[in-house]
Amino acid sequence: MGRLRGKESTHKTLDRRGFLWAAAIGAAVAMGAGGGAPDLALRADVRVNQTSGLLAGGTEWETPYYIITSDVPGPTLLVTGGVHGDEPAGFRAADEIRHWPLKRGRLIVVPAINVPGLKAGTRALPGEPESTNNANRNFPKTGEPNQASTRIVQAVWKFIQEQAPDWVVDLHEGSDFYIANPKSVGSSIVFFDTPEMNALAQKIQKDVNATITDPKRQIAIRTVGPINGGLVRATIERTGAKGFCFETTYNQQPLSLRTRQHRIMVHRLMRELDMAAGDAEVMTPRPRGSQVQVAVYDGGGTGGKGADNLTAILDADPRAAVHRVGPPDIAAGALAQFDVVIFPGGSGKAEAGALDKEGIEAVRTFVRNGGGYIGICAGAFLSSTNYDWSLGIINNKTIPGKLHERGGGTVSIELTDEGRRILGDTPGLLDVFYRNGPMLLPAGVAGLPTFTPLAFFRSEISQYEEQKGTMINLPAIIAAPYGKGRVLAISPHPEAVPALHFIIRRGVQWAAGR
Ligand SMILES: [Zn+2]
Repeated sequence: MGRLRGKESTHKTLDRRGFLWAAAIGAAVAMGAGGGAPDLALRADVRVNQTSGLLAGGTEWETPYYIITSDVPGPTLLVTGGVHGDEPAGFRAADEIRHWPLKRGRLIVVPAINVPGLKAGTRALPGEPESTNNANRNFPKTGEPNQASTRIVQAVWKFIQEQAPDWVVDLHEGSDFYIANPKSVGSSIVFFDTPEMNALAQKIQKDVNATITDPKRQIAIRTVGPINGGLVRATIERTGAKGFCFETTYNQQPLSLRTRQHRIMVHRLMRELDMAAGDAEVMTPRPRGSQVQVAVYDGGGTGGKGADNLTAILDADPRAAVHRVGPPDIAAGALAQFDVVIFPGGSGKAEAGALDKEGIEAVRTFVRNGGGYIGICAGAFLSSTNYDWSLGIINNKTIPGKLHERGGGTVSIELTDEGRRILGDTPGLLDVFYRNGPMLLPAGVAGLPTFTPLAFFRSEISQYEEQKGTMINLPAIIAAPYGKGRVLAISPHPEAVPALHFIIRRGVQWAAGR
């Protein structure tokens, strides 16, 4: 995650990535209000002041905070995430919630408390001894002196006391579903049991569970209270705030879904506090700013590490901001706030099935209206014309049936002149990972422009006799406009090869029309 890179680059990264964008352009900015989900247009009557800064600045633990203040007085809500680095949904959700328009009060967000842990994907604070490496045991404990341990938790705790929130929500994840396996805290709402908090928790639970059809995966209520030494408990005990821990489940559920569940729970709380001016679908800043806003699809039909690789590549790219989306986000109209959507590897047919007809039409409409589409392997089957389930947004067909299954391995590709102009001026043969990607053949469909090859295969893989000799010199990457938007279809997997990540970074900028 680029915003979370090493210390010497972080400060500049923050500026370049637009973290401090609102502060840089002045005090008052108008932020967008969601209203009806697909219409995320600017609403001038919601005025807020946004400032931001760094906690533990200049250290390896440095992390940004954001303070969004409405013109209208109201409660102060603190939302935190990333306390445990292996629980990315809390970080992603908090980092989206900071873009929410505010009706009243103050919204304070610290999305990434354990930056080195989030980078490494570890629960612990990296490098700390075991006795102090769990950030959520390092806040002052019940009945003990008002002392926090470790550099980052001390900085966070000082900040919380200064801000004196009325409400606090810390976003976490667990390994399993509490409702089915009480050994895990995953998928639960944790709080100290009072009539007010219980009533509130039930409303939050009702909203989020309305989006969860499997009863064994529903969010449970846990009145045991937040953990001793944790952020929420210390804040409740020492500042008089009221608060929750929200927990999702990271096993067997895509990151987009867990992030969405966190957004829904925080949004319901903000509605009860009369603070929410938009809806829970808002993930990106309004106005959109200089970064290309990219949605990486990670829902049904995806497989392997495609979505994770793409997210890591774009997290490290200061010109892009990456978010995860799944079928429920797309059905709710979330794509309208993005510049580009990427469909990674897996099964194109299964991705189409998960999207359903409504989602397929939403993706088509998004591109037609000026959005960018990048399909990789399965995503390039999905954009093709020749299936009854496919999008038909670029004028290619594929080889259907078992002959599309060539197996996997390394093949070489070569960028065309146009490919070198659009994706990067890299001559010669490039080794790339390939696995059952589509052969991108001209389809000649009326009404669709002819595609431009950006790269050709220069070697091949085959597992059936009939396939031999038919792959070399076929297009590996193709591009074309669709309506006001742009489509990039990539048969192999440049996201799986570090030396070829430039193809993803440049492809995103091109698809966004930059
Ligand atoms: Zn946690």
